[in-house]
Amino acid sequence: MEEEELYHAETFRDRVSSVTESGKRNWIYALQPKGRFYNFRNLLSYTYLIIFFALPFIRVNGSPLFLINIIDSKFILFGKIFWPQDFFIFAVGMIAFIIFIVLFTVIYGRLFCGWACPQTVFLEFVFRRMEWLIEGSPGRQRALNNGPWTFEKVWKKTLKHALFLIFSFLIAHTFLAYIIGIEEVWQLTQAAPSQHMGTFLGLIAFTLMFYAVFAFVREIVCTTICPYGRLQGVMFDKDTMQISYDYRRGETRGRFKKNEARTHGDCIDCKKCVIVCPTGIDIRDGVQLDCVGCTACVDACDKVMDKVGFEKGLIRYASENQIAEGTGVRFTPKMKAYSALLIVLIGLMTVMVVTRKTVDTHITRVKGQLYQEVDEHTISNLFEAKIINKTNKSISVELRAEAISGHVRLIGAEAILLPPESLSDHTFFLDIPKSEIKARSNNISIGVYSNGQKIQTVKTKFLGPF
Ligand code: SF4
Ligand code: SF4
Repeated sequence: MEEEELYHAETFRDRVSSVTESGKRNWIYALQPKGRFYNFRNLLSYTYLIIFFALPFIRVNGSPLFLINIIDSKFILFGKIFWPQDFFIFAVGMIAFIIFIVLFTVIYGRLFCGWACPQTVFLEFVFRRMEWLIEGSPGRQRALNNGPWTFEKVWKKTLKHALFLIFSFLIAHTFLAYIIGIEEVWQLTQAAPSQHMGTFLGLIAFTLMFYAVFAFVREIVCTTICPYGRLQGVMFDKDTMQISYDYRRGETRGRFKKNEARTHGDCIDCKKCVIVCPTGIDIRDGVQLDCVGCTACVDACDKVMDKVGFEKGLIRYASENQIAEGTGVRFTPKMKAYSALLIVLIGLMTVMVVTRKTVDTHITRVKGQLYQEVDEHTISNLFEAKIINKTNKSISVELRAEAISGHVRLIGAEAILLPPESLSDHTFFLDIPKSEIKARSNNISIGVYSNGQKIQTVKTKFLGPF
């Protein structure tokens, strides 16, 4: 390609699709896609929306299935309560999650953005859908926006923005239910705003934020604001799967003329792939950060190819290398290795969550205390036990010396009863026969039992007279 041609071919990279050359907002009027990928995404989005709105109502053993209560440091995942003491699981989880995201993106590109990101699902399958229903096709929307304030324009705009506000209000309340629980949200809605002014103002702020995002900011979130989107450039390589235009097959572009021998490539320059694009780009320009991988252009182009009798897949999922080599999607050794690593990471996290202790006990000798002689045959040490009950049920536990004959004497209590979701302190003497003490500092183990079953073994030190 000549230098000047190359310069013009690359100028699309100098600006973002949502801004005009004069610096004004370029409002994207995207056509509603139709096709097999859109049908799949439709199904997935409905499932996703049902799960999103239903999850706060689902309870397991009396606890919500999910609760991310940052305010009270209370986290419930899959019905299991996590405490700040379980922070290491979150830390490992976060590291695993970041590695997961990087590996996933290196292999599958923006698959998450196009198919599962809440921003895409809400914008494309809730808000834009309401807009298409009320204001009609992109052409009608443009005419309405550019036209005078007639009665039709007033009622359509009022209805659309009222619905947008109601849905934003619902989304804000559902998010709040993930934080404080659905019962609390219900109680808040019953009380006067003056009784919970902070939460009320927060809800209003979040409702307005969602409304602004879905009514006005829209695709700018994906193309400019989202940090994940911004990082794609450093994570992609030539083997990353993405929505690609097969330039080898498509170029040079030229209009389709029936009953005439084709002297061009397969792209008939109909621009259908451009008018369905929700971020307003032309995928034929090549790989672009603004592409969210929504597959709308794939469906549009497949339909065109069908109509003119060419093979589908001029725009398809393929890596840069696969397009250059003219092959379809291949599961390369690198993809296999990374996918295996992703499965290992998911497995690791699952094991950590499933095997997490429900009762966590820390036992230490009371500071400043040495040993006491109970009688001429027995020595005792004073211990302090901090026991966390991470379940939502009361649990009674018993402490027993392990691998040594010893006796636990609780101070100020007959038995240890742990209230639900509690942290309690208990002090006790451990009496051990002198004959079992072999050194000044002895490693010992104390078993924590519930209903006769050992649930934890705690290691500590026992001081002797040597
Ligand atoms: S829809 Fe297909 S044929 Fe039409 S302009 Fe886009 S790539 Fe070319
Ligand atoms: S280029 Fe295609 S896949 Fe990418 S955002 Fe536009 S329509 Fe979606």
